[in-house]
Amino acid sequence: MTPRAAHSELHLSHRSNWLRAAVLGANDGIVSTASLVLGVAASGASGSAIATAGVAGLVAGALSMAAGEYVSVSSQRDAEEADIRLEDRELREDPDGELLELARIYEQRGLSSDLALSVARELTRRGSLTAHVRDELGLEDERRARPLQAAWASALSFSAGAALPLIAVVAAPASAREAVTVVATLLALAVLGDVGARLGGAPRLAGTLRVVVWGAVAMGVTAGIGAVIGSV
Ligand SMILES: [Zn+2]
Repeated sequence: MTPRAAHSELHLSHRSNWLRAAVLGANDGIVSTASLVLGVAASGASGSAIATAGVAGLVAGALSMAAGEYVSVSSQRDAEEADIRLEDRELREDPDGELLELARIYEQRGLSSDLALSVARELTRRGSLTAHVRDELGLEDERRARPLQAAWASALSFSAGAALPLIAVVAAPASAREAVTVVATLLALAVLGDVGARLGGAPRLAGTLRVVVWGAVAMGVTAGIGAVIGSV
């Protein structure tokens, strides 16, 4: 493998982490909004009531995704920062021990002990905390937890997903509202399921089917409940 190939592979894996989160958020937005509008539609509600419920569902879902993601990524961030503070203290209290520790890490990765020690010395000269944070704690700068970024990304991807069934249900003529929404939703889920499967390295057909089937189940259940409540 050429160095160039290894380089582009690394970038793909970085990007796919981010993309996978976006695909999940969009998936959530599509399924929950489609189910919501179908449930309300099945109760016999008017077009404007369906649209109101859909918009409220989009906003509520996006905000709740953002809040949940912010809280969870923040606590991950706190844990990372506590680890870094601990490492910083160890480096000040026992620099020689920490140098040997770093050398042992490179040795375990396959360097001879002499080379490992000189790599550890050189990286320690350039910035001991950076070297320990990256190679001992495994916290690469590009992958550090970023609460605000995570919150925005999930709110945006949820909204983008939710907009699709919402547009379908509003744009469709009243007589074909449910059918158009179901078809548009299943198509969107199939595309997303395929993208998600490719990013995750899963078999494409199985990954796509899984997403489509669970989306169909969610829509069927809420439409059924909506119909029952509407007839009461
Ligand atoms: Zn250390």
